[in-house]
Amino acid sequence: MSETARTTVTVLGLGPMGRALVHALLDAGETVTVWNRTPSRAEPLLRQGARWAASAGEAVASSPVTLVTVVDHDAADAILSTAGPALEDRTVVGLTSDTPGRARTTAELITAHGGHYLDGAILTPAYTIGTSSASILLSGREELFTTVRPLLRKLATPTLLGDEPGRAAAFDVALLDLFWTTMSGYLHAMTLARAEGIAPNEFLPFAHGIREILPAIFDDLADRVEHGRHDDPTSTLDSVRSSLTHLVSASQDRGLDSAALDGLLRRVRDAEQAGYGQDEISRITDTLQHGRTAPASSPTGRRDPTAVSSR
Ligand code: NDP
Repeated sequence: MSETARTTVTVLGLGPMGRALVHALLDAGETVTVWNRTPSRAEPLLRQGARWAASAGEAVASSPVTLVTVVDHDAADAILSTAGPALEDRTVVGLTSDTPGRARTTAELITAHGGHYLDGAILTPAYTIGTSSASILLSGREELFTTVRPLLRKLATPTLLGDEPGRAAAFDVALLDLFWTTMSGYLHAMTLARAEGIAPNEFLPFAHGIREILPAIFDDLADRVEHGRHDDPTSTLDSVRSSLTHLVSASQDRGLDSAALDGLLRRVRDAEQAGYGQDEISRITDTLQHGRTAPASSPTGRRDPTAVSSR
């Protein structure tokens, strides 16, 4: 095959997300080359007009822009390494979720082969791709983003967060942390309620009541953490510790694992032992990041949050 681009975009990886990307690109009138470790997954897409490449290198050479969406960056890097020299002067948009560190490694790999890299994190499920509710966060050079934005807009709303390659993945992991710990709390709460004879549908309206108070709490805590303002609490850490202790006991009374609550309780106790029992729970962002050792006192007599030392 010629090294000249013959399609407008290549997609490497044809799991649920890769297939959704290809569908949306074909629907938008793009010409698409595809490659996947398991070739049979491409068959329905080939019937819709996608073109098969025999190798990842051939696929990358086929288009000016390549989207990579596989299970993790180990797989992405292995695939892209086999493409080798084909990466020169090609733009690769990584749409594989992983850690910020792995995004940086992939950026180095592509750059070392003379290619250009944008790292991306798709925030919404595969079925949203090609609709106005789909969202992709990106990091990398702005001029590169400007070049690929018209293509990405056919898939989702793309948002550039900065040129540091790990930044999109950093947002992604923090947002997934929020999502999964929220899911963990909801599932644990339903289990505890059910163990006490409360059916999920009886519990649900009250769970929605909790959900409705969260936006104002998110805003308040963000402001407190941003400005290091943990005094003037709506509820003290001492009081939160008492409440969490009841939750752990109630869980254990019903034989339920309480590991997530235990973890939070430990952090609250760390902050109390460092002298912050009368502060808001936002204080634990310091002890989480820096460990439990008490920081030096500030000139006002309060602990200095910037002086927390490592465990
Ligand atoms: P998976 O995360 O299961 O990835 C499947 C793809 O990875 C397939 O193409 C598979 O190839 C390939 N793959 C797995 N292991 C390897 C390997 N060792 N070498 C080469 N290829 C490999 O499915 P998705 O398509 O759903 O996800 C792709 C990415 O998109 C992930 O990072 C995911 O987190 C992200 N994402 C997915 C969403 C979704 O709704 N599905 C939503 C948001 C983000 P093969 O077919 O040969 O097994």
